[in-house]
Amino acid sequence: MRLRCVECGATFEPLLIYRCSACGGILETDGSDDVAPFAFGEGRTPLLRASRIEATLSGFSGEIWLKDETRNPSGSFKDRLISAALGRAIAMGVRGVVCASSGNAGAATAAYAARAGMPAIIVVPAHTPIGKVTQISAHGAILLLVEGHYSRSYDLARALAEEHGFANLTTTFINPYAVAGLTQVGTEIFAQLGNAAPSHVLIPTGSGPLVKGVWQGLADAGATTRLVAVQAAGCAPIVRAFEAGAAQVTAWGMPDTIASGISDPLIGYERDGTYTLRLVRESGGLALAVSDDALRAAMQNLARLEGVYAEPTGASPIAALPRLLADGHLPAGSRVVCLITGHGFKDGRAYQEMPAHTHRVEDPGDTAAVARLCEAAMDGQNLTVRF
Ligand SMILES: *Cc1c(COP(=O)(O)O)cnc(C)c1O
Ligand SMILES: [Zn+2]
Repeated sequence: MRLRCVECGATFEPLLIYRCSACGGILETDGSDDVAPFAFGEGRTPLLRASRIEATLSGFSGEIWLKDETRNPSGSFKDRLISAALGRAIAMGVRGVVCASSGNAGAATAAYAARAGMPAIIVVPAHTPIGKVTQISAHGAILLLVEGHYSRSYDLARALAEEHGFANLTTTFINPYAVAGLTQVGTEIFAQLGNAAPSHVLIPTGSGPLVKGVWQGLADAGATTRLVAVQAAGCAPIVRAFEAGAAQVTAWGMPDTIASGISDPLIGYERDGTYTLRLVRESGGLALAVSDDALRAAMQNLARLEGVYAEPTGASPIAALPRLLADGHLPAGSRVVCLITGHGFKDGRAYQEMPAHTHRVEDPGDTAAVARLCEAAMDGQNLTVRF
């Protein structure tokens, strides 16, 4: 296995290098890594049919599937990247690892490093959701909070890795061993559909390694599938370039969205976005943005209709479905896989603001009154239950 530049094709020994020394391009592994991952139960997540969400999409006749990545050990698909990259880092005998993160990659790194007994420094924006910050701290990692958008954390992690010989496990396209750990997502989807390709895969997209992983896994299986990169309207650099028909992605300003997992403005590594855009176009797919209100509605549908509890970013593919359908992108017979990338435990705020069926019981002995209360509440949901 060697490293190869996705832009100029130059190849390199598999060392801890992060960019092509000839052109500055993104490096990929040519084939799967021959060093074993540091495994901890990641991957092999369920693919669930979402028939109750299908029923909400009037005019849709096809299948919606949920690839439930919330089931990974630290609650997001980032475990797959960190597992692969940490296996490499250990094999190379590094002193420690550093990871810039919007929260989930940091939580994955902290958990896996704890298990490996490896020192870890995690760099996150100061406004990262408290659930993710708590998770990182719980595992004993050194946690650095940096004011401002994610790209500032990215720069600091890169400098720390370079100056102190730590492996950089940041999960943009910077670490080719990490990205190679995502090919399995595409491979699993193909196998779980009975060795058949979905028509579309909807992917919450920050810088895009997950798009690459799905693309690669499906390509390796000989499948052609339209990839849909979903971003938040408050941070959508790839969508903006797609809609403008531009070849290059340009950086976003300050992100403004509840979707913390994809609020990456790409400042300084715009070519990550450009590469992702290229893969999306090659697949015949598209990029589209969803509003925070659409994210909230999607979270509610996932939780109440399918039993799946997702953070705002994780629900973004569900938020994209009505728009894709309305714009004619989901013809009859479509088989759509939605990647549900992160767990609701990580960021429950949006759910806390939703109306809930919570009632204070003053007298638990008066079961008749409690039954009347439940009956009335269920009428409100158009459920006919009689006690
Ligand atoms: C990191 C992350 C993403 C975005 O993945 P990229 O590979 O950076 O595009 C999507 N969803 C969640 C929950 C994430 O943590
Ligand atoms: Zn190159």
